[in-house]
Amino acid sequence: MKKKGVQLIKDGRRIDGRAFDELRPIRIEVGVLKRADGSCYFELGENKVIAAVYGPRELHPRHIQDAKRAIIQYRYNMAPFSVDERKRPGPDRRSIEISKVSREALEPVIMTEFYPRTTIDVFVEVLQSDAGTRTAGINAASVALADAGIPMRDLVTSVAVGKVDGEIVLDLNAYEDNYGEADMPIAMIVRKNKITMMQMDGKMTKDEIKKALKLAKKACEKIYQLQREALIAKYSEEIEREEQSDEQSAQWLKV
Ligand code: ADP
Repeated sequence: MKKKGVQLIKDGRRIDGRAFDELRPIRIEVGVLKRADGSCYFELGENKVIAAVYGPRELHPRHIQDAKRAIIQYRYNMAPFSVDERKRPGPDRRSIEISKVSREALEPVIMTEFYPRTTIDVFVEVLQSDAGTRTAGINAASVALADAGIPMRDLVTSVAVGKVDGEIVLDLNAYEDNYGEADMPIAMIVRKNKITMMQMDGKMTKDEIKKALKLAKKACEKIYQLQREALIAKYSEEIEREEQSDEQSAQWLKV
């Protein structure tokens, strides 16, 4: 962030041709991993992430169990090939921080009280990155938790907003993140208008933050719809497949 000397806005358009309030294209697929209890593939422009959810399952060692609720373990990991230059494998300060804030972003919607002494494990693997991977990861994890059948109050939705060449813009790409003035990732429960994660790298005035939050909220409403649609699509297809297979079994039995 904040390296100088690159023009990021020209004739009211951004470096990738987007308008200030325009999201990158989003693609969501639910249930992409057969061994996970729930999973989701989430694409946000050039970002590609997969979330896998396991549990609730018994937590070991026992002394870290909570007698009243499930604990959530969230691991954000960047593949070595997900960045321009190979990233050293394994956890680092950045991934530990992202795992923590992402877990805290999701915890308010998960009904952990239903599963004492257990763990719900969320793995987010970044396959390709172009800024916004933590937000893509939270969106994917939220859908994967629902796919795993974990009781939730609602989904959590996430997007980044920021400041580039003096303009408030939505969903920064890597250039904008590197050379812009500020990057502010947000996660929220859209229908409650409740923010569950808010971070800031850079500087914005109070009015700019207000404007950025408005932009983030509108974008989260759109992403929330896409998350819901992806879940509905998966389960509608599943019901259809089951009905077809029942029909086929009935045919077999007749013969
Ligand atoms: P986010 O991906 O959530 O926006 P950051 O703002 O920390 O998180 O990172 C912005 C982008 O910088 C990442 O999406 C990635 O493309 C790049 N990046 C982050 N860490 C590394 C790294 N260790 N090596 C190369 N590029 C990285």
